[in-house]
Amino acid sequence: MESTVERLEFKSELRQVLHIITHSLYSHKEVFLRELISNASDAIDKIRFNSISNEALLEGNRDWKIKISVSKDARTLTVSDNGIGMTRESIIENLGTIAKSGTRAFLEALKAADASSRPDLIGQFGVGFYSSFMVADKVTVVSRMAGTPASEGVRWESDGTGEFTVEHVEKTMRGTDVIVHLKKEEEEFLDEWKIRTIVRQFSDFVEHPVVMDVEKKEEKETKTVEETLNSRKAIWLRPKSEVTEEEHEGFYQQISHNFDKPSKIIHYAGEGTHEFKVLLYIPSKKAFDLSFGDSKFGPKLYIRRVLIMDNCDQLLPPYLRFVKGVVDCADLPLNVSREMLQQNPILEKIKKNIVSKILKTLEEMKKTEYDAYLSFFKELGSILKEGLSRDWSNKEPLADLLLMESINTPRGSFTTFEQYVVAMPSEQKDIYYLTGESRSHIEHAPYLEALKGKGWDVLLFTDPIDEFILPSLQEYKGKRLKAADKADVELPDKKEHADDVKKKFAPLLNALKEKLNEVKEIRLSTRLKESASCLVSEEGAMGAHMERLMQRMGQMEGAEPGKRIMELNPEHAVVQLMLALFTKDAADARLENYGRLLYEQAVIAEGSKLPDPSAFARRVNELMANDLDRMIGYMTDQEEKNS
Ligand code: ADP
Repeated sequence: MESTVERLEFKSELRQVLHIITHSLYSHKEVFLRELISNASDAIDKIRFNSISNEALLEGNRDWKIKISVSKDARTLTVSDNGIGMTRESIIENLGTIAKSGTRAFLEALKAADASSRPDLIGQFGVGFYSSFMVADKVTVVSRMAGTPASEGVRWESDGTGEFTVEHVEKTMRGTDVIVHLKKEEEEFLDEWKIRTIVRQFSDFVEHPVVMDVEKKEEKETKTVEETLNSRKAIWLRPKSEVTEEEHEGFYQQISHNFDKPSKIIHYAGEGTHEFKVLLYIPSKKAFDLSFGDSKFGPKLYIRRVLIMDNCDQLLPPYLRFVKGVVDCADLPLNVSREMLQQNPILEKIKKNIVSKILKTLEEMKKTEYDAYLSFFKELGSILKEGLSRDWSNKEPLADLLLMESINTPRGSFTTFEQYVVAMPSEQKDIYYLTGESRSHIEHAPYLEALKGKGWDVLLFTDPIDEFILPSLQEYKGKRLKAADKADVELPDKKEHADDVKKKFAPLLNALKEKLNEVKEIRLSTRLKESASCLVSEEGAMGAHMERLMQRMGQMEGAEPGKRIMELNPEHAVVQLMLALFTKDAADARLENYGRLLYEQAVIAEGSKLPDPSAFARRVNELMANDLDRMIGYMTDQEEKNS
């Protein structure tokens, strides 16, 4: 057999790819190992399949294995497999041109991307075999096709510039060795610990064992043993019933880097036009990084057991960013580019399927494992709620997942929209709610007096996010959601005040409005029973709680806080006595003072801050002093009378 070395040129587009690989800086160089392991694993899959019809190919060896070995002296890292191997022709074809669509697409993406995002593209998708040139100044491939004689081995070598060489060599073992001659500055890839870490990180779930010889100290002597580095547990591909709780827990903790137990496991195979496996975990605790909006999310995307992306955010909406797991899709090309993933109809379909499955699972959990659901909701409910304002297609299932306090639920207990609606008396048309800082802040709010009088329930929303999602909710199963502190809310037994009452109070209200610049309007209230006054917002205007939230977020800079409508209770003694005083002396200065006090009380009742609290204290003290003065005067009179 001739043993001439043949020198060949890379095809021109491959030269471009190689040029970029060897001339740019990369952030994820270690992915070269993932790519080589993945190729080796594919080669084993191929022979495993081909040997079904031709057992001779096995040459008596079906001990599938991917072996990593290093030589510190030669500064080489070798990935060997006993897979299908390559002939001289196929090695020229496979490693000298871009045959596959993935690298072609990658090339397109490279052309489109600006220079700074190129390294990332390589990190995310790898460029297969060629990514070894990120760390190597030379790569040697020695291969022999299964079923051919040992003399048919082939040696391919290149420094990744313009050319490569091929020659025939002896190779006893079928399969392929890829020998990566590491650059001086990439020596760290010779390190056992480094290799272990990379394999665990990127190839842990490869089905075939990835092994390495390691030195083990046993009593006096050190032995070299072959150790399997990957756990090989593609547990999402195993039948659901075979995976133990411990395995799930370990896997969840490994992929999420969390330490809690998943509160729910979603494991199923997608049916229909696309073949995909899903294994998702709903955490029980809110992970630290979830509070930062910009953290990465989305399940790991595998294509036939090969990790493509650590966080595929095309598969989950941001409001489900707490969900961790794996999606393994058989219908995508392995070297799919980021661009291809972005508007990929297959991923869109899978996403829709996953989202509805998650929401259904949560609903089921709420019904059958309420306590677990409750603790999930307390931890992660505020993130889930974001979906109400973003995912219109799932508005109703999302609304059904809310747990809410209400004036009729005991403290710490919750109701749902469904339960609320069932309990609604037939005369009640709308769903009432009130937002505020905390339950104690709002449960005694004056707005609720008329509703409470009727025994109608009011939902209490106290999570800051609620204020932002409620406007998009608008209704639940045809019942409108009404804020109890909005001006034109429909109240039970809302009888307009009789004309003569309105007429009687009108001059007082007008006079007060003249003096009280801080309110937009003063009118008689139909919602108050015990309180003398309250402030309401116009429908569509920003409510008090929202205004406070915006202020806290620094969103009200320069904006005037909205003026509110003050409502007075004509049945309240204070309001009636003020009218009596007004009728006697419309110019009495006390009227303005008392009017302002009514306003200030209402400000406090709605949970807002008084612009000038000391002026309020002064006014209250003045009242107390007058009252005490009169009281003491009266007592002195009585004593004198009695003596
Ligand atoms: P990809 O694996 O995505 O097809 P690569 O550039 O990594 O792209 O590899 C190109 C081709 O070279 C592969 O499709 C395969 O046919 C062949 N190849 C690479 N590595 C091996 C290997 N270890 N054993 C057999 N064939 C291989």
